[in-house]
Amino acid sequence: VRIAKEVKEAGANMLRGGAYKPRTSPYAFQGLGTEGVLDLVKARDLTGLPIVSELMSVDKLDEFVKNVDIIQIGARNMQNFDLLKAVGRTKKPVMLKRGLCNTIEEWIMAAEYIMAEGNPNVIFCERGIRTFETYTRNTLDLAVIPIIKERTHLPIIIDPSHAAGDYKLIESLSLAAIAAGADGLIIEVHDEPENAWSDGAQSLKPSKFNDLVAKGKAIAHVIGRSLG
Ligand code: PEP
Ligand code: MN
Repeated sequence: VRIAKEVKEAGANMLRGGAYKPRTSPYAFQGLGTEGVLDLVKARDLTGLPIVSELMSVDKLDEFVKNVDIIQIGARNMQNFDLLKAVGRTKKPVMLKRGLCNTIEEWIMAAEYIMAEGNPNVIFCERGIRTFETYTRNTLDLAVIPIIKERTHLPIIIDPSHAAGDYKLIESLSLAAIAAGADGLIIEVHDEPENAWSDGAQSLKPSKFNDLVAKGKAIAHVIGRSLG
């Protein structure tokens, strides 16, 4: 709630938080589950920000349809076809992250799985792909922006946080994404990154996020777009 208020103040127009978390290690923080979803609902009630959260399995679908405004399908589930079909049978907007090692063609086909069930509300989210590079957590592929725009009619947003893995890279990648025509950004923010339960190293403090929004709006203005 504390951070939600700060990002809202800075100009964010949605709040994303993971309540069910697909962590690489089973011993890492696994999320707060239902309690986390209800915390997001509380943050929405207090700020008016729509909420986005990751659905990991079909058995939690009703909980998400009831509580969440946008359902996130995470990179690790991009080709979980039963999950894609299940969200396709709802009318909820779905944010479909690109898989760690998936081609653009596979990603578009994953979106087709959702739309073929009757849900046209799909948003692509690029979060970096795995390459030989080790200086970044993943390699952010910005070529997807013009390609997705040419091949589909769907919006595409960029997640520089999971791509970079390092807060120092977020500003450059974000501004580049806006310049390349992205429809939005999803940026991790924490007021005490050193105490974050997940992904603190890639989280911006609210003041840095605030500066970034201002710079992003300037770039959006130059290319004739507006950022929410
Ligand atoms: C996340 O958004 O917190 C997440 C786990 O991202 P990804 O699925 O892109 O790894
Ligand atoms: Mn994360």
